[in-house]
Amino acid sequence: MANRPPRDPATRELLNQLQRRRALRRRLRTAFAALVGLAFLGAATLAAASLFSTDRSVPATPPAPATSLQVDAATGLSPSPTAPPETTTTAEAPTTTEAPTTTSQPVQAGGSADPPPAPTSKPIVVIDPGHQGRGDSSTEPVGPGSSTKKAKVSSGTSGVATGTPEGELVLAVSLLLRDALQARGVEVVMTRTTQDINISNIQRTQIANEAQADLYIRVHADGSDNSSTRGIHVLYPAIVKGWTDDIAGPSKRAAELAQAALIAATAATDRGLDARADMTGFNWSDVPVILPEIGFMSNPDEDRLLATSEYRQKIAAALAGAAVEFLKERGRL
Ligand SMILES: [Zn+2]
Repeated sequence: MANRPPRDPATRELLNQLQRRRALRRRLRTAFAALVGLAFLGAATLAAASLFSTDRSVPATPPAPATSLQVDAATGLSPSPTAPPETTTTAEAPTTTEAPTTTSQPVQAGGSADPPPAPTSKPIVVIDPGHQGRGDSSTEPVGPGSSTKKAKVSSGTSGVATGTPEGELVLAVSLLLRDALQARGVEVVMTRTTQDINISNIQRTQIANEAQADLYIRVHADGSDNSSTRGIHVLYPAIVKGWTDDIAGPSKRAAELAQAALIAATAATDRGLDARADMTGFNWSDVPVILPEIGFMSNPDEDRLLATSEYRQKIAAALAGAAVEFLKERGRL
C-alpha cells in the first residue's frame, strides 16, 4: 500500500493536460489582446500582426482541442478567437465610451457588439468515489491549520443484503456519472478509478483544487444501525470562516439541485440537505463541493435497489443533470 502512487496515472495525466491547456489559452489570450491593440495603429496592424503570430508560433487559427470544439458546437458559441482585426476596429469606434472593466478580458472590452472571441474552456467536474478498497486509519487535519484530526479515509459501509462494499458501489455510480457528464460536454477528472489505491480525503480534494473544478462531487452511500432508515440526502459545506465561506453559497445551490434531481429520478425518501462543518473533504476545498449520500446500504430494500444497474443509472443521470444545470447557472455551459 505504502509504495503505491497516491494518484491514478490517468488522473495525473488529465491534470497535466489541463495545465497545458490553461497555459495555451493564456498564450492565445495574450496574443489576441496584442492583435486587438495593434488594430488601433491602423495601417501598420496587418504587418505587425503577422510578424507577431509567426514570432510566437501561435497559429492564427487556435489549435483548440477537438473536444472543446464539440462543446462549442453544442452550445452554439463560436469557438474561434480570431475575429478579423478589421471588424474589431470598426466595432470599437462607438464603444469607446464603455470603459474596460477587466484587464484579464481585454477582448470583451474591445468589441462588445460581438460575442467574446476569447477561447472558451470546458467546464470541469471532479468526481470522487468515496472510500477505497481498504481504509487508512492514519489521520490528517480536518481543515487547514486545524489540530483536530480524522482518519485519512474510512473503509465505508457495506450492503446488508448484497455485501457490496460502499467503495465499490460508489465507484460504479461515479463511472456512470463521468460518462453522462462527458456526453454533455463536461471535462471530468476522477480522483480514483480503482479500488486498489490509497488516497486520503485531503489528497482527493487537492485534486479538485488543482483542477480548478467548477464542481466537486463526492459520491457516498449511507449506513445506519436502524435497518429501516432509508432515503437520499446531500451534504454540503457549512460556512466556516477562512475555510469554506467562499464556497458555501454555490455548494448549497449545487446541493439543492442534486437533491431535487435525485428524488425526482428515484422516488426515494427525501432526507433533505445537511450543512456540515466537520468534513475534511469540504474544509480543504477551494471549489464548490457536494456529497450525495445515494441511499442506505443498511436497508435491505435500498441495498438491493442500489445493486441494480438500472437504479445506478438513474442516480448517475440525475446527478449529471443537476451538475449541468449548476454549470449553466454559473455561465460555464
Ligand atoms: Zn461513505
